[in-house]
Amino acid sequence: MQTWNLALFVSEAVLYFVLMTTLLHFRHRIGLGVFLTALGVMHFVETYLAAVFYIELPFGVVSPGSSVFFAGKLMLILMLYIKEDASTVRQPIYGLFLGNLVTVAMAQLLLLHQTVEPTAAQAADMTFLREMGLLMIWGTTLLYVDSLGIILLYERLGRMMPRLPVARFWLSGALVLTFDQIGFFALLNYLFDTPPEVFWGGWRAKMVSLILYSAMFAIYHRLLRGGGVLHSRRPIRDVFSDLTFRERYEDLLSRTGRDVLTGVFDRSRMEIEAPRLLRESLKEEEPASLMIIDVDYFKSINDRFGHLRGDALLKEIAGCLQSTVRPQDHLFRFGGEEFVVMCPRTAYAEALLLGEKLCRTIRNQVNNPTGEAVTISLGIAAAPEDGGSFNSLLSLADERLYQAKNDGRNRIVGRPIAEA
Ligand code: GH3
Ligand code: MG
Ligand code: MG
Repeated sequence: MQTWNLALFVSEAVLYFVLMTTLLHFRHRIGLGVFLTALGVMHFVETYLAAVFYIELPFGVVSPGSSVFFAGKLMLILMLYIKEDASTVRQPIYGLFLGNLVTVAMAQLLLLHQTVEPTAAQAADMTFLREMGLLMIWGTTLLYVDSLGIILLYERLGRMMPRLPVARFWLSGALVLTFDQIGFFALLNYLFDTPPEVFWGGWRAKMVSLILYSAMFAIYHRLLRGGGVLHSRRPIRDVFSDLTFRERYEDLLSRTGRDVLTGVFDRSRMEIEAPRLLRESLKEEEPASLMIIDVDYFKSINDRFGHLRGDALLKEIAGCLQSTVRPQDHLFRFGGEEFVVMCPRTAYAEALLLGEKLCRTIRNQVNNPTGEAVTISLGIAAAPEDGGSFNSLLSLADERLYQAKNDGRNRIVGRPIAEA
C-alpha cells in the first residue's frame, strides 16, 4: 500500500512540475497570465488537500497538498523570478497573499448562511470553511515570507556559487521549506497539540518533493543549455541564462556610463564613482589624488585635419591614457578633450609621478596626421591636504590646469613648491 502511495506521490510531483514548467516556458507565446492563473487555481486544490487529504508513505503520514503542491508552488515562484525579474514575480506573490485574505473574508460571510441540502450528498462542509480562519491567515503570511525569502536566498547564494544554479535552487528551497514547516507546525501544535511525528513526516515529504523538483529543474536547465528539444522564439542562450534580475542589472550597469567615442567612463559615471572612491579612501585614512587633463591646441587639430581625424585622435589619446594609468585608477571623459583621473589610496607625490608619466607617454606615442607630437596639460590636487570633497579637489585641479596652460602647456602643475 505504501509503495503504491509513494508511486502515486512521485507521479503527482512529476505531473505538477512538468505541466507548470511547460506553461512557464511558453509564457511568451501563450501569455504569462496562463501560468499565473494555473498557479492560483492549483493553490485552491492545495489548500483543500492540506486540510483533509492525508496518505501514508514509507516516511510518515503526509499531505500531498503541503508537499507536492505547496513546495511546487514555491519552487515555481523562484523559477519565474529566475526567468523574469522582481517586478514580475511580485505579481503572484502579492496576488496569492491578497487573494487568500479575500478568501478568508468570504469564508467568514459564507459561514453566516443557513444552507440547504439539495440532495443528501450535497451537505455544506462548514468544518472546512471554519478552518479557513486563523490557520489560513497564518499559512498565507508564511507563504508571503517564504516567497520573498527564497528569492533573497537564491540571490545571496549566487554570490557564493554563481556557477551552480541547480545547487542554489535546491539549497534555497531546502532552507525555506524547513523554515515553513517549523512555522506552520508551531501553530498546529499550539492549536491542536499536533504530535512531532506530523512535523517530521511533513518535513520529509517536502524534502522528497524538493529533490524531485530539483532533479527536474536540472534536466530542464540542461535541455535548454544544450539547445535541446524545448524551442522558443527567443535565442536559447537568452531563454535560461543564469542571469537573474540583479545580475542582469549589474551587467547593464557595467556597460552603461561609458563614453561612446572613447569607451572610457563618462561624466555621469564620474559624478557617482569619483566621490565614492574619494570617500572610501578618506574613511580608511588614506590619501586620494585627482588629475584633470586637457589636450593642447586641439581646436587647431580639428581645424587643420577635420573633425573625424580629431575624433580618431581623441580615441587614441583616451586609449593611451587608459593603458598608462594603473588598474586601481579610474579614467573618465570629463567633456570635449578633457579627462579626469581619480587615483584612490594615492598620495600627492605618487600621483605627480603618474601625471608626469601620462604627459610623457602621450607626447612620445601620439602624433597628429602630419607626425607632430600631441601634448596634454594636467592639473593635480590631492586629499586630504588640498580639500576633502570631490568638488573642491576638482576645482583646485582645474585652476592648476589653467596655470599649466598659461605656463606654456605640455606639463603638469600641482602644489606651489613651498607647499609640496
Ligand atoms: P588649449 O586647450 O591648449 O588651450 O587649446 P584647445 O584648442 O584645445 O582649446 P579648448 O580646450 O578650449 O578647445 C577644445 C576643442 O576640442 C574644442 C572642440 O572643437 C574640440 N572638441 C571637443 N570635443 C570634441 C570631440 O568629441 N571631437 C572632436 N573632433 N573635437 C572635439
Ligand atoms: Mg578643453
Ligand atoms: Mg584643449
